[in-house]
Amino acid sequence: MLHHERLKPPSHDYPADEWNVVEKRFHPEFLAQSETMLALGNGYLGMRGCPEEGGPNVENGTFINGFYEAWPIVHGEEAYGFAKTGQTICNVTDSKIIKLFVDDEPFWLPDANLLKYDRRLNMKSGTLDREILWETPAGKQVLITSRRLVSFANRHVAAISYCLTLLNAEAFVVISSEMATNEPSARTNSDDPRQARALSGRVLHPRTSYSKDLRIVLCHATEKSHLTLTCATDNALETSCPHAYKVVHTGDFGQVAFTIEARRGCPIQLTKYMVYHTSQTASVEELCGRAEWTMDRVMNQGFQQLLAAQEQYMDDFWRRSDVQIRDVRKDRTKRTTVEIQQAIRFNLFHILQASARAEDAGVPAKGLTGQAYEGHYFWDTEIYLLPFLTYTSPRIARNLLTFRYKMLPQARARARQLGHRGAMFPWRTISGEEASAYYAAGTAQYHINADIMYALRKYVQATGDELFLRDCGAEMLVETARLWLDLGFYSDEKGGKFCINAVTGPDEYNTVVNNNAYTNLMARENLRYAAQTVESLRATQPDAYNALAHKTALEPSEVEAWLRAAENMYVPYDEKLKIIPQDDNFLDREPWDFRSTPRDHYPLLLFYHPLNIYRKQVIKQADVVLAMFLLGDAFPPETKKRNFDFYDPLTTGDSSLSSCVEAIIAAQAGDIEKAIRYGMAALLMDLADVGGNVKDGCHIASMGGTWMMLTYGFGGMRDDDGTLSFWPRRALEDNAIFRFPVTYRGQMLEVEIGLDKVEYALREGECLVIRHEMEEVELTRENPLVMRPVSRR
Ligand code: BGC
Repeated sequence: MLHHERLKPPSHDYPADEWNVVEKRFHPEFLAQSETMLALGNGYLGMRGCPEEGGPNVENGTFINGFYEAWPIVHGEEAYGFAKTGQTICNVTDSKIIKLFVDDEPFWLPDANLLKYDRRLNMKSGTLDREILWETPAGKQVLITSRRLVSFANRHVAAISYCLTLLNAEAFVVISSEMATNEPSARTNSDDPRQARALSGRVLHPRTSYSKDLRIVLCHATEKSHLTLTCATDNALETSCPHAYKVVHTGDFGQVAFTIEARRGCPIQLTKYMVYHTSQTASVEELCGRAEWTMDRVMNQGFQQLLAAQEQYMDDFWRRSDVQIRDVRKDRTKRTTVEIQQAIRFNLFHILQASARAEDAGVPAKGLTGQAYEGHYFWDTEIYLLPFLTYTSPRIARNLLTFRYKMLPQARARARQLGHRGAMFPWRTISGEEASAYYAAGTAQYHINADIMYALRKYVQATGDELFLRDCGAEMLVETARLWLDLGFYSDEKGGKFCINAVTGPDEYNTVVNNNAYTNLMARENLRYAAQTVESLRATQPDAYNALAHKTALEPSEVEAWLRAAENMYVPYDEKLKIIPQDDNFLDREPWDFRSTPRDHYPLLLFYHPLNIYRKQVIKQADVVLAMFLLGDAFPPETKKRNFDFYDPLTTGDSSLSSCVEAIIAAQAGDIEKAIRYGMAALLMDLADVGGNVKDGCHIASMGGTWMMLTYGFGGMRDDDGTLSFWPRRALEDNAIFRFPVTYRGQMLEVEIGLDKVEYALREGECLVIRHEMEEVELTRENPLVMRPVSRR
């Protein structure tokens, strides 16, 4: 896609539906895309949206967050400190297979005569539902309905309710409920750096397998990362048709085959339960025991109870998180509003699926919908996801920050290795060790340290969770502040200012640069917050301060040094253009020749040597523009506009992390037309496959960005100074009202932005002070407030 074409509205083929993404017919050509889009997950366990029959698949995948195999990174030319160990999320045992044979004819979607086909990602119930009417070559009509869920309430559990009825005849039916490990993958190593490495040979090594009645347990372990996995399935068949079964298992494979004399009109109901447990330390026996305990419990509960818990979880999620858009003319048939609503929910639902139960783990760039980016955790979590989670599901946000905290020992070791003080978080990782093989666009992205601290600050501000700040946050702040102080220096060349050289900012098309503005601005924030936190602990909680000082060997003089570096931080500025140059040399570079770049040569990273890109003025993703959003207070609207106008034409948007941010700054700078266009590109990134790579997994960061785009961009939300304020603009659509809830310090506020008024209602809590534009207002449960926006353009 030509970069200017990003401004064209993308389109997609799913029928407009507020709560479902519906496939109305079997599309073999979109198999890979639908595997991603219809994937289910809970942040711990993820299953791509492949059909029950075990095929056809392009890339079948079942993933456990953090379950990876390690491999040695072989650098053509070694250098000191290069990452040594690659980490790739494993495709684990596929337990969802239910094969069907009617009079020995296999049910195989591509060949089947389908009288009805309806498959839907049901975002209200958190399930993948399917209804198929198949006519066999012998004219027998078979109705198959199924409902699959990956449980939010029981994170180790998935289940399928599968019902079959012969409508017009009787037949001999076989339903084979299977599980398979180490299935061959069609994937090979490609030149696209975004894709995961194809691990060669057998990845999961059998440890044990056994069966008990209709239950099968398979246990495997990885060789190098020393992780163990147990997958158990159990099956319950209910029917009045005569039937028998047979159980088979080998190390990698398990099968319970039911042979049934199906009578006309007589339903055959199979419920399949699937349980996954993983561990680094537990023995094989113990892990199998854990899987069986979980299985016993869910078998006792039954599918209906699992479903009820799922629906309740979803209701609760939507109550706290749903962003609603409604056409004021009550024209429910109006396609665009419904489509926007569908896209909004699709994004929010997938964020939930990527993060909800990611306990003791991060959020992979693709969630658990695909193996691309190897299942690694990046800054995506802190900058793109945490705002949504902090304001809607603070517990999940806390879990993710706690996970970073637990990474501190490795981050300290990595800093030592690179000769730094403090701690240095990995650019990409699963285990906590740096896994980025290409340092220029990896390890050099020091900004991730400030990004994590930025997310911490927002979290603490929005939740008031001072305990977390005291017990975990402060230590991370001390260590990251030390890193910045060590990394930068006072440069005579820059009038004695504090400079940070040889780093890469968010924009990966300009690497290893001096004074990347984003990095310097965010580092300044990090240093200030560290100093402020330590000072406040010293003043108000001397015991906590002493414990921190003891643990980190903190000297009071360090805090002064942080403040001095922050106050003297060099931020590039160009007097002539009156903009913030992205780095010291950015304006010196030759402009990229967009006109001669063929339209199919995007993303540039797949068609040009990095050096060709690095020496030109061309941007992969929002960088200065992102800083202007994150640190919005520091930039007046004219500055935002001037910088946006300068950087916008140079930005390819080759990263999906760009459009949402560009939309926000366009909205804040008053360019509503561009805001809408970029906003729609972000919103439809996955549903309309804007980047052409949805097959590899959902763009979770961009999905998080859509929430920011709606609330901060169009809702005009601001939280820079610790008070929530709103400068509402308008919905993405003409004649539309939009509404969103925000949880702030344990209270839930609902904001409704109408055509000429804004309503603030406190739904949970007693009293909340916010600002509407410049005006401070106090909200109570009884008194919603209606205000007129003056700032609307
Ligand atoms: C982007 C990074 C991002 C990564 C994972 C890359 O293409 O440039 O900013 O962290 O994808 O989403």
